[in-house]
Amino acid sequence: MRYLDIFLRDEDRILQEQVRKFVNTEIMPVRQQIDDDEHHVIVKKIIQGLFDMGLHLRYFPAAYGGCSDQSTFVSNSIMLEEIARGDSGIAVAFSCIGWAFQPAVLARNKAILEKFVPLFTGKEVRFACFNMTEPGGSHGGGGCDIENLTLQGRTIRTTARLEGDEWVINGQKLWATNSGISDLYCTVCTTDPNAGDRGIALIYIPHPTSGMTFGKFERKSGMNADRNCATFLTEVRVPREYRASEEGKDAELFHLNLITGRLGGAAMAVGNAQGAFERVLEYTGERIVAGRPIRQHSIAAGMLADMAMGIETARMYYLAAAYMMDNHRKYGGLRSHYILSRVSLAKVYAAEVAIMVTNKAMELMGSYGYVRDYDVEKYWRDCKIIQLWEGGAQLGRFDICRGYYDCQL
Ligand SMILES: Cc1cc2nc3c(=O)[nH]c(=O)nc-3n(C[C@H](O)[C@H](O)[C@H](O)COP(=O)(O)OP(=O)(O)OC[C@H]3O[C@@H](n4cnc5c(N)ncnc54)[C@H](O)[C@@H]3O)c2cc1C
Repeated sequence: MRYLDIFLRDEDRILQEQVRKFVNTEIMPVRQQIDDDEHHVIVKKIIQGLFDMGLHLRYFPAAYGGCSDQSTFVSNSIMLEEIARGDSGIAVAFSCIGWAFQPAVLARNKAILEKFVPLFTGKEVRFACFNMTEPGGSHGGGGCDIENLTLQGRTIRTTARLEGDEWVINGQKLWATNSGISDLYCTVCTTDPNAGDRGIALIYIPHPTSGMTFGKFERKSGMNADRNCATFLTEVRVPREYRASEEGKDAELFHLNLITGRLGGAAMAVGNAQGAFERVLEYTGERIVAGRPIRQHSIAAGMLADMAMGIETARMYYLAAAYMMDNHRKYGGLRSHYILSRVSLAKVYAAEVAIMVTNKAMELMGSYGYVRDYDVEKYWRDCKIIQLWEGGAQLGRFDICRGYYDCQL
């Protein structure tokens, strides 16, 4: 038992064991092949397995064939941690299906839910994408600026204008998980950058839609189970009701997606670190140096203890943050600065722990840690992006401060 009992319901424990077993049998034996899985044959097979277990249904309301009534922030985070213990790229590709739908689900947008959820609640794997990030440039904006609450959406350059009963969208997005392979894109737009938060519009674009095209897939250090590319939007037209909600409400839904994204990132970072830790524990128990197993040398034991301290505290903290979200009324509401601060703390800290753990694990494994056959180098490459995405380590820290004072950064 790795999760503190007070956070878990009986069904969460069953879920955790079920996912752990799946990871051990379906991901661990093939995880080292994922980097070479150019056409995502292995990745799709694994995600198909998650669909076969019905885990994707946790993101959709029962009225539309899902079982989101069984989901809590705690249980979905535990599920992500367990998947990420096998492969955090699989975890992010899978979880972004729910992340992309979340605004429509919370807004109870019938047009989106009735038309698109049935596609996703079947047995066949489908992907969805939350398309927020934009390129930067000499004009500023893009990247973290879009997520910066202080900037209130003023730097969003993807525009949406209403013409009759249609939204007409123009702009460019970058990097988003599942881009280029999704059936539905929740696209962060502005109706008027000068209107600040009131201008933020979350508009769903199904694929294919005329005017939406994609760049080539990015070549990354890791996270290769996730596909990322640029999305180009030129006079893309979708029905008016494909906007998640309405002026003002869309900004609230957007901020909530930033919050849940941070929580998911924290859980994935812990899973990644846990996977590397289990591997290095095993390795240092077997490999003999200077007459005894590596882990029986005090210098190595100290490093293993540091890793354990990081993982256990990061896990406890993301669970605490998830618990507060499940009981948000006591903590100022789901979109409060307090909750944003909790999840940012969980994510920034967990990502740094994962980087530290994978780094030290490699150190203890010597050159074996650096080569593919011994697993750890993939954890090391995969986890770095968790620190960089969703606001990075810097904006993440500003958001931590927002829970303590009126931080205007
Ligand atoms: C594998 C992967 C998956 C991704 N998934 C998604 C996704 O699903 N959806 C999506 O929309 N995007 C996604 N992204 C994009 C990612 O979230 C962004 O790249 C990230 O938020 C940072 O933007 P940027 O890279 O442009 O960095 P920049 O914004 O250019 O930041 C550069 C540096 O400046 C720092 N910084 C930022 N703001 C400030 C400030 N105010 N003061 C001081 N320093 C600051 C940053 O922390 C960083 O160190 C993904 C990227 C990758 C690689």
